[in-house]
Amino acid sequence: MHVIAAVRDEEGPQFLDIPKPDPGPDEALVRTLRVGIDGTDHEVLDGNHGDFPEGEDYQILGHEAVGIVEDPNRTRFEVGDLVVPTVRRPPDETNEYFERNEPDMAADGDYLERGIVGAHGFMATYFTSPERFLVGIPDEFADYGFLIEPISNSEKAFEHAQATRSAFEWNPKSALVLGNGPLGLLTLAMLDRKGFDRMYCLGRRDRPDLTIDVIECLGATYVDSRETPVSEIAAAHEAMDFVYEATGYAPHAFDTVRALAPNGVGALLGIPDDWTFQINGGQLHREIVLENKALFGSVNSNVRHFKAAKESLAAFPDWFTDELITGIYSPEEVEKAFERDDDVIKTVVEFDTP
Ligand code: NDP
Ligand code: ZN
Repeated sequence: MHVIAAVRDEEGPQFLDIPKPDPGPDEALVRTLRVGIDGTDHEVLDGNHGDFPEGEDYQILGHEAVGIVEDPNRTRFEVGDLVVPTVRRPPDETNEYFERNEPDMAADGDYLERGIVGAHGFMATYFTSPERFLVGIPDEFADYGFLIEPISNSEKAFEHAQATRSAFEWNPKSALVLGNGPLGLLTLAMLDRKGFDRMYCLGRRDRPDLTIDVIECLGATYVDSRETPVSEIAAAHEAMDFVYEATGYAPHAFDTVRALAPNGVGALLGIPDDWTFQINGGQLHREIVLENKALFGSVNSNVRHFKAAKESLAAFPDWFTDELITGIYSPEEVEKAFERDDDVIKTVVEFDTP
């Protein structure tokens, strides 16, 4: 079968032929339809994130997949079922996080991640997965089901945000998404159906720009960080009940607090490199305390969040998914699928069609 992999000492995504996998006990064999590409895949490819499976010289890429069950192998699935795999898997021995179905809360070392940390991903003609890590989805999601994984990360973040505010009556009306990359745009579309009256999204692009068009078509206000830094958004627009950071721009973690309204909550999702800079720590500390603000980090997601993401995806307007996916490539065209440009929002590798 064909796979797209990161190969030791080779640059860029490599197209390899390897034998089709055999499903083990409790595993189904899945024929891959589409696998989305995100920044993490680029980082894995560049050797800046995750690591190869133990003892291997290559790693199959991809963690955002949708496929069709080819061999259910005595799992609960039937031939032809459409499924999406979750990303985390237990290391050699399972642990409490996996037993509680909360692998997203496992600490470094307590998990592998398919296509990222020590395990092969889904960019292959076929993949196998234990049934508990497969989520069944309706047939109409064959084209865009691969978006369920990234959306699920935002579902988790929003669930945790609500949990931090659950001790009092919290009725959030304003939301700010920092970042107009694929994760920011998917989150904006997700928040659109969570009851916010007013939404904003931060970028640093000139018009005309595809992402600004998407932001405005979703009814949100585009904020250019070069004109209005995050710390000034409350004064220029309004203070936010919820801020979702998806830039990976480290100062935004702290500026988020300044953008929040009293009793608001900020979720940090971006993954920055080391960066030393100055902040007014006293002001930050004081604001968090005197205004009952919360700030937390969130990574990955579990099956519950995949199920929530299914609902969000079902409610996305067709134009949104059409605009977001700027390229659909065959495995042979994988180099193009990994190209980055201002007119690329998100690309996908298509292995097969239903
Ligand atoms: P991208 O890098 O594609 O998007 C980041 C966006 O933020 C870009 O559009 C960029 O603009 C914009 N941006 C960066 N700095 C600024 C700034 N100072 N002012 C305004 N806009 C800015 O990444 P993704 O959308 O794929 O992911 C977002 C972040 O979330 C990444 O750090 C990623 O690693 C992380 N991530 C975290 C997950 C989790 O579970 N915690 C899951 C998936 C991703 P421009 O394009 O113009 O440069
Ligand atoms: Zn990802």
